Amino acid sequence: MKKSANLLTLLIILGMVLGVLFGQFLLFDPDNTITGTHWTKTAGDLILIRPLKLMVIPLIFFSVVVGITRIGDPSKLGKLGGATLLYYFATMLIAVVLGTTLVTLVQPGDLPQEIQAELVSGGEAAFDNNTDLQGKVKDQSMGGAWTNILKQVIPSNVIAEMAAGRPLGLIVFAILLGLALAAGGDRTRAARDFFDAGFEGLMILIQWIIWLTPIGVFFLLAWTVGKIGMAQLIGPLGWYMGVVFVGLLLHMLIILPLILFLFTRINPFGFMARMKPALLTAFGTDSSSATLPVTMETAELHAGCSKRASNFVLPLGSTINMDGTALYEAVAVVFLFQLYGIDLSMTELLIVVITATLAAVGAAGIPSAGLVTMVIVIAAVNGSLEGSGLTLPVAAIGVILGVDRILDMCRTTVNVWGDAVGARIMTQLTPDDVAEPAEPL
Ligand code: ASP
Repeated sequence: MKKSANLLTLLIILGMVLGVLFGQFLLFDPDNTITGTHWTKTAGDLILIRPLKLMVIPLIFFSVVVGITRIGDPSKLGKLGGATLLYYFATMLIAVVLGTTLVTLVQPGDLPQEIQAELVSGGEAAFDNNTDLQGKVKDQSMGGAWTNILKQVIPSNVIAEMAAGRPLGLIVFAILLGLALAAGGDRTRAARDFFDAGFEGLMILIQWIIWLTPIGVFFLLAWTVGKIGMAQLIGPLGWYMGVVFVGLLLHMLIILPLILFLFTRINPFGFMARMKPALLTAFGTDSSSATLPVTMETAELHAGCSKRASNFVLPLGSTINMDGTALYEAVAVVFLFQLYGIDLSMTELLIVVITATLAAVGAAGIPSAGLVTMVIVIAAVNGSLEGSGLTLPVAAIGVILGVDRILDMCRTTVNVWGDAVGARIMTQLTPDDVAEPAEPL
C-alpha cells in the first residue's frame, strides 16, 4: 500500500513538472493567450476533474451516513461536531489575522503612482469585459451570504441539492439519516450494512480513479502556465502574490503543524508526507470538492485517520473550512484598498478579519470561488468607509484576475491541508477502535 502511495506521489510530481515545462515552452505566448476552451483544459477536465466530481456527491452521502452510524452515541457526536466547528473557525480566524498582519506590514499595494494607475485601469477594463464574473459577483452581499448558507443548511429537496452539487444540505440530510439509522437498532441494521458496503465500494472506485491524477494534473498545469506564463510572478503584482504565498506557507508549515502536534503529539511533517497525493491533487485541480475523494482515501488508508472522524470532518471541511481562502481574501482586499490609495483604520481591518472568515465559509470548494465571495468583504469595508466618500469599486477585483489561478492552486492546497489536520485531530476524539456502531439511541 505504502509503495503504491509513493509511486503515485512521484507520478503526480512528474506530471506537474512536465506540465509546467510544456505550458511555459510550448504553449505560452504573450501575444496570443490561450483560453478556457484550449484542448489542454478540456483534456484535464475529462481525464481528472469530471471523474473526481462524479464521485463527490455519492461519496459525501455514503461517508457521512457511515460516519454518523459508526459514532452512534449522540453525545459523542455532539462533542465531535462542536469540536470540529470550533477547529474550523479558530484556524480560519488565525489564517485571516496572519494575512491581514502581513499585508499591512508589507504594503504590497504601495507602488509608484504610474504603475498603480496602469494596474487600476487595466484591471477595471478586464472586469468590464468579463460578463461571467460580473454575473457571479452581482449576488454577493453580507445578508445574502447568511441566507444562502442557511438555505443550504435547511434544504427542501435533497435530490435537487445533489443535482446542483450543493453539499451542505446533503450533509445535513445524511447526518439526520445516520442518526435515525443508528437509533433504529436491529430494525435498521440492513440499511447500515448497505451504507457500509456502498462506502467500501466507492473507496475502491476512488482508488482506481486516483491513478488518473498524474495525467490530469499534467494537462491542468500546462493550461495554467500556458495561459499566464511564469513571468507574471515577477511583474508589478509580484509583491502581492509574494505576501499571499508567504502567508499560506507560514500557515501550512508552522501554524497548522503546531496545532496538530499540540493535540496529537504526532510528527506533523510525517503526516503531511502521507497526505501528499491529496495535497498535490488540490494544487493541480484547485478545487477542494473535486479533491475530496482523494483526501478521504489518503487520510483513511494511508495517514491514520479514523473512519469515524474523517467521514464527518473531511466532507464538511471541503465545503466550509477554508483557511487558505480566508487568508487570501484578507490579503487581496487590503491590497486592493492600498492600490486605490485608501487607508484602512483598525476598525476596517477588524471588519476584514470577520467578513473574510465568513466569505471563506460561504465560498464553495470550486475554482475561483474565493475571488467571487471577496466582494462581501469589499462591500462590508466600503460600508464602514461610506462617510469618507472613498470606496473601492467592485471592478477592482479585475486587477488580480489574471494571477488568480496560481494563487487558487496554493490556497486550495492549504484548504485541504487544514481539513486533513482537522480529521487527524478529531481522530483522537473518535478513534475507530471500538468497532461497534449503532447502539440504539
Ligand atoms: N478553489 C478553492 C477551493 O476549492 C476555493 C477558492 O477559490 O478559494 O478550496
